[in-house]
Amino acid sequence: MGDCIVQLSEHVSNQIAAGEVVGRPASVVKELIENSVDAGATEITVVVVDAGRTLMQVVDNGKGMSEEDAQMCFKRHATSKINSADDLRSLVTMGFRGEALASISAVSYIELKTRETGAEMGTKVTLSGSDTGDSEPVACPKGTQFAIKNLFFNVPARRNFLKSDQVELRHIIDEVQRLAMAHPGLSFRLQSNGSDLLNLRPGTLRQRIVAIFGSKHDERLVPVDETTDVVKITGFVGKPSFARKSRGEQFLFVNGRFIKHPLMHKAILSAYDGVLSPRHFPFYTVFLEVDPNRLDVNIHPTKVEAKFEEDQAIFAILRSTVKRGLGKHNVAPSLDFDTELSISIAPLPSTKIVSAPQVSINPDYNPFKSTSRAASTSGLRKEPKPIEFGGTLEQELIETSTYEIPLEVLESTEAPKYFQILNRYIVASREGNLVMIDARRAHTRILFEQYLEDGKGFGDTTSQKLLFPEPMDLSQADTILLVEASDILSKNGLVLERVECGVEIVSVPTGVAGNIQDCIDSVLEVLRDGTWSDEEGRREKLAKVWAKSGAIPKTKKLSDEEMSAMIGRLFSCESPATDPWGRSVFATFDAQSIDDIFG
Ligand code: ADP
Ligand code: MG
Repeated sequence: MGDCIVQLSEHVSNQIAAGEVVGRPASVVKELIENSVDAGATEITVVVVDAGRTLMQVVDNGKGMSEEDAQMCFKRHATSKINSADDLRSLVTMGFRGEALASISAVSYIELKTRETGAEMGTKVTLSGSDTGDSEPVACPKGTQFAIKNLFFNVPARRNFLKSDQVELRHIIDEVQRLAMAHPGLSFRLQSNGSDLLNLRPGTLRQRIVAIFGSKHDERLVPVDETTDVVKITGFVGKPSFARKSRGEQFLFVNGRFIKHPLMHKAILSAYDGVLSPRHFPFYTVFLEVDPNRLDVNIHPTKVEAKFEEDQAIFAILRSTVKRGLGKHNVAPSLDFDTELSISIAPLPSTKIVSAPQVSINPDYNPFKSTSRAASTSGLRKEPKPIEFGGTLEQELIETSTYEIPLEVLESTEAPKYFQILNRYIVASREGNLVMIDARRAHTRILFEQYLEDGKGFGDTTSQKLLFPEPMDLSQADTILLVEASDILSKNGLVLERVECGVEIVSVPTGVAGNIQDCIDSVLEVLRDGTWSDEEGRREKLAKVWAKSGAIPKTKKLSDEEMSAMIGRLFSCESPATDPWGRSVFATFDAQSIDDIFG
């Protein structure tokens, strides 16, 4: 066979490294900003065109580079930040691998202009796809400007793999926001297609958080602060009552670097035990500082993971620090072992008989019942309508509200034919079988198909105007994401309006009830995910959100009419057996399986 091993050229190895370092435009932005921070910049401006596809420019007022460095910096493993392996142990800079610029230059056109402090003239270097680069003197302000053009121009597979502009822009905003939080003392500006998305003045961490997430965050922040031998903890956590259903506002930094660390995330969440609604996530921006010797941030090239030597100890300290922080602000019991303050209750004499307190209720009372009958028998409504529940935040009202029953279902009803157990399952007999139906899942299936049907052909989803536009509580980035998708959303029944301090919801798809903020949070999750490819895919994802928001709660007492309407509508659905997420809507027990029970 002969010799077949060859050393890869620098160009090929840079392209391979680029695969790891440069996943998408946002990773380029991150690397460039980190370099600016390392260069001591106090003002960093990021300009992107077409979500970074066409242009990404990062301009800083840092220390700049000499002519030689301006050429050297694109070489693989060219770094001014470490000299020996020992330096790795005490690293305080953001970058250190000397890989970023080499990788970026392998997959884009680059123009670099830089002028060192004290130098009269600057240097301009232009490269395309890792060629050696031309350099010439240039007049430019002190600092460094990188312009990255046509990312992945020579790797079409990568270019095609990029998501929509909205999604790529969102990733860029995320990166800038994280870096801006890690460095509140620096000013950051982000421009996209000519308009300012972020313009952050230097300030405290609290001011920075408020500038990014909106003024409402100010009153929701609880400071956390602790210094031990193992770790120093600073930052803010959100009050539990403001926790969101969607993830995305949880930020953990270790030695100034944003990381994802499931264990530390758990430590923070567990501090909220007992004070958080289920499936809600609190805001947090927490900074951990540990001895760099005891931290390995090197386990992943994009460095969003980290490994602590003392993770169990840090877990415990972080948990109790957050818990104490919440306790101090009277939002959670302060310490588990704080027993001296608890009220002591004397044991009950064994002879005493305890009876449960009695509450008398009239189970048949339904304040909406007559209204519902009047509406459904008046014959005013000829068209089948989605089953509607009154839109309200109050669980109490949801519990007692009712929906209109399509006439054709009512007419065929032989009520009372059905009953409900656990306020959740409708029990019915159907074609000789015993059927148990999960009412909420059935309702989501009905609404889901209704919304899809609504939007077929040219039709837009019908929407209902809110009595008062409802202001949403959103970060700047989420505001942008929603506004950019507003045309698509209004076709799908959600009409919003950009107002000075964010976004107001004007109309919601007919039938969407309950908490609109939760509904918008789910819409944002869909938008962030961005995996929809075509209009149909979008419709389907949004129809799921509307169905989830419009459906009755998991447990709710239903009237006979409601049950029969539900069953009538369910079994005229195309796929009644599962909810839109593929979970079973009903279980059937045939004669044989019932007989088997009794042997
Ligand atoms: P690393 O940051 O890991 O050292 P990079 O490839 O990101 O590697 O950068 C290589 C070198 O280029 C840096 O070590 C630094 O000396 C120089 N450099 C890059 N960006 C800047 C900048 N904005 N200002 C000054 N020097 C810079
Ligand atoms: Mg770097």
